[in-house]
Amino acid sequence: MSIPVKTLKKLTTILLITAITSLMGQTPTPASERPDYVLVIHGGAGAMERSKMSVEAEQAYLSGLSEALAAGEKVLKSGGNSLEAVIAAIVLLENNPLFNAGKGAVYNEAGMVAHDASLMDGKSGKGGAVGAVSCIKNPVLAAKAVMDHGRHVFLVGRGAEKFAIRAGLDSVPQAYFFTQSRWENYEKTRQTQLEREFPVQPKGTVGAVALDKNGNLAAGTSTGGMHFKLEGRLGDSPVIGAGTWADNNSCAVSATGHGEFFILNAVAHDLHARMVYAGQPLQQAADELVMNKLKQLDAGGGIIAVDKQGNVAMPFNTSGMFRASVVAGKKPFVAIYAEEQE
Ligand code: ASP
Repeated sequence: MSIPVKTLKKLTTILLITAITSLMGQTPTPASERPDYVLVIHGGAGAMERSKMSVEAEQAYLSGLSEALAAGEKVLKSGGNSLEAVIAAIVLLENNPLFNAGKGAVYNEAGMVAHDASLMDGKSGKGGAVGAVSCIKNPVLAAKAVMDHGRHVFLVGRGAEKFAIRAGLDSVPQAYFFTQSRWENYEKTRQTQLEREFPVQPKGTVGAVALDKNGNLAAGTSTGGMHFKLEGRLGDSPVIGAGTWADNNSCAVSATGHGEFFILNAVAHDLHARMVYAGQPLQQAADELVMNKLKQLDAGGGIIAVDKQGNVAMPFNTSGMFRASVVAGKKPFVAIYAEEQE
């Protein structure tokens, strides 16, 4: 049986397109197989007990999360892309003094605030990150500027600050980042040798992941890092593959927790790898990582993730994680403690 030349040509074209798209590797899921959009955010994981939190503080955290979620959802609803939505949500969390990012960052051992942030776009596979920056009002925007510039992926310290200022971003004095509670914690630790060796874990790193109307995924994370960290220390949050990852073939993920463990276990990329190479569904992959692997290492923390079909997972092995999510057409979910389930 001979195949007509026309059919052969058509078949070759289809095969070529399939080969090219699979080589590019970042194809969005068809609209019929996913919700219109999904946004998930976090404001850090840690020891959070209802009995130790005042009603006012609880309300303030919940409204901070709701406002950031609404800002990101507005972008997605009006057809904006996942990266823009992630940035919109993170900027609000950075501006909120309650969270350990931007304005509310913790102090390092030298009594300075030093921020880390990263972003990844699941469609283009591009990323940008900054580390140890001390004067940029919104570090996530500096990560975006690095990504847009395109020559490098990761800038740190003075060079990152100069680059961000040249890119037109707002720079502020250290005094802008002052918050009474973070300073009191710093002073307390400074005066207590025992705590100096075993610093209290902070809560409040922020992150966001999103799936947009075109099926594109994006992720971002921003933090002041660990309380009383050594000068020059970078955590997982600005490390693409540790604290942040997005790939249209699998998922978008943002992590929070004891950064050293998240770096050593390449947590964000491991989630993607489990899905792509081991064929694990999102929830199973996320649970195995956070509730088994990290927990066995005594690495406290959690992740938020959305996959290309719009499934959401937010496991954490601490007593709480500030978190919120919204799926198009559904009521938003906002929670703090482990026992709160959707
Ligand atoms: N992962 C952050 C860091 O290690 C801290 C956190 O998420 O609480 O810098």
